[in-house]
Amino acid sequence: MSKVLLISTGGTITMVREDGNGALVPADMETFKAFIPELFAGNIHVDIQAFDPLIDSSDIRPESWRKMAKMVADHYDAYDGFVILHGTDTMSYSASALSFMLENLGKPVIFTGSQLPVGVLRSDAKENLLTAIEIAAEQDEEGNALVPEVCIYFEDKLFRANRTTKRNAEHFSAFNSYNYPALAKAGVHITYQPHLVHYSDPNAPLTLHTEFDTNVAILKLFPGIQPAVVKAILHTRGLRGVVLETFGAGNAPSDKWLYRELKAAVDRGIIIVNKTQCNTGSVEMGLYAVSLNLMKAGVLSGYDITTEALLTKMMLLLGEMPERAKELLGKDICGEMTID
Ligand code: ASP
Repeated sequence: MSKVLLISTGGTITMVREDGNGALVPADMETFKAFIPELFAGNIHVDIQAFDPLIDSSDIRPESWRKMAKMVADHYDAYDGFVILHGTDTMSYSASALSFMLENLGKPVIFTGSQLPVGVLRSDAKENLLTAIEIAAEQDEEGNALVPEVCIYFEDKLFRANRTTKRNAEHFSAFNSYNYPALAKAGVHITYQPHLVHYSDPNAPLTLHTEFDTNVAILKLFPGIQPAVVKAILHTRGLRGVVLETFGAGNAPSDKWLYRELKAAVDRGIIIVNKTQCNTGSVEMGLYAVSLNLMKAGVLSGYDITTEALLTKMMLLLGEMPERAKELLGKDICGEMTID
């Protein structure tokens, strides 16, 4: 019998309406389990570990990522796969973070949640959870995991975690992976795409990275952005890294003051990475003249990475191996970006 560890952090999937104001709050795991007896009735053995208390994912912090990753690492040998229940709001951040924290992962770690609480009749909770459990347990004839990656399973698709973004606060298809195809689709059968899966070196042991440096910022450009705003961000005390959200293929206003501010920040040792504000497509610095200044200032290309993946990768590299952060931000570590 395959064994899966279900780690619950909270999120809508575990929530009930609070008496009085009617707002959704996480219930406890006993209440949750009572809604899904199927969890323990199939041919996969499921054990549960839960955050205490369960939380809304707006309250997720790097400490929470550390806790989740440690739960996986501590029980790594005892289970075939792991499912992490998580609120959808910051799921892409957490799942991206874990994809970088769990180096040489050889087993599935599948994040899921739901748009409606488990106790609501039309809830998407059961389908998401039960399919995620099945995917986490799935192996080939030799006993190797089919998808040994950190993933998000939602509605009917399995995505590489560090390629996802929450795109919808209303519909059941809450996530998308704009720049990389789904690793599996679930219909009557679950159809896997093995050629798209990232496999770690099977002989390398799982290595856990847990140190984050949160002295980072996201600077989103817009027409009319003022020097004072850019200066305030780039002169933030202790700042070490910036996700620069640019236009189109990685373009920025050609104002001299912007170039000077960015160049001065890079010279002060701040790492700045160019991420397009578009969901689909890649940064291509040098394609337009309006991106040449960024190149001259020493801004790195983030290619087609998501903001969630770039931010968590930056925080982890700055925390774990600052001397290599710049070099590794320009490289694809575990399938998070496509470098042509
Ligand atoms: N606010 C909830 C959370 O992220 C939303 C959800 O789970 O869908 O925890």
